[in-house]
Amino acid sequence: MSEPLRILSVGAHPADIFDQSGGTMAHHADQGDYVGCVVLTHGARVHDAVISDDMHHRSEVPAAAELQALITERSDIKAEEARKACKLLGVEDLYFFGADDAVLIVTDEAVRRLARLLRQVRPDVILTHFPKEGDGLTNAHAIAGQIVMHAISLAGGVDPGDRNPPHKVAQVFFFGAGAAAIPRQVWQSEGGYYNAVFIDITDVVDKKLAALDCLISQGYGGAYARKRIETSDGAFGGAGGVAYAEGFIPLNAETHDYLPVTERALASARASDHELIAERSYRIPVD
Ligand SMILES: [Zn+2]
Repeated sequence: MSEPLRILSVGAHPADIFDQSGGTMAHHADQGDYVGCVVLTHGARVHDAVISDDMHHRSEVPAAAELQALITERSDIKAEEARKACKLLGVEDLYFFGADDAVLIVTDEAVRRLARLLRQVRPDVILTHFPKEGDGLTNAHAIAGQIVMHAISLAGGVDPGDRNPPHKVAQVFFFGAGAAAIPRQVWQSEGGYYNAVFIDITDVVDKKLAALDCLISQGYGGAYARKRIETSDGAFGGAGGVAYAEGFIPLNAETHDYLPVTERALASARASDHELIAERSYRIPVD
């Protein structure tokens, strides 16, 4: 056994880390790896049952101070949901940066703060959004990915005031959904990015479902969590030849001593079509 990995998943909004990497995080936590999370924005402005939904149907929204207080209150509720979800997946630490999700941009402050956290937590592997997702400009996920890339670069050196030594990350896996999902915007016509790594999450899909069920403020609890897992993780699973999977786009090419062929690839090549279809056909039981 090699030493435990240190993995950090960084998302723009509270639900992203669970949506895109919940099963992968549960897997690694189960095998004794360190798993931590960072959520860059509070997410209350665009993804909240009260702020983004109720306000939509009012004739007038509350005055500034009252609205701000409401956003703070809802942010706390969302953070609590995310903490609960992390516990179910075995995630040890959850760091909230609390940025307003009004306009997320790459700032010196956000990059430095994350770089300091990287020197402190010292992850080997980072999971985060693809920095060219969508238009790569107004897309909060893309900006989050860009903040992470700047922070990785900065963390590789010293910063006055931070006593932690420089830290380098071994690999970054970008969330496949969004960058390599079904294209639905003109921005997605370029690129040609594809999911090069699938993580089979079938054995922990119930944990991921329980985690998504915690995200009630975002409308995930219940029917949507199930629909989302069937359509998204189920589609990734179909592409990866398993029941449920999460897809990733690795940043760096890998160097091996010998040609890398997985046990799965060998087993799959030796299985019949019906055996392969049977493996993909598992569904979360409906209770
Ligand atoms: Zn998001």
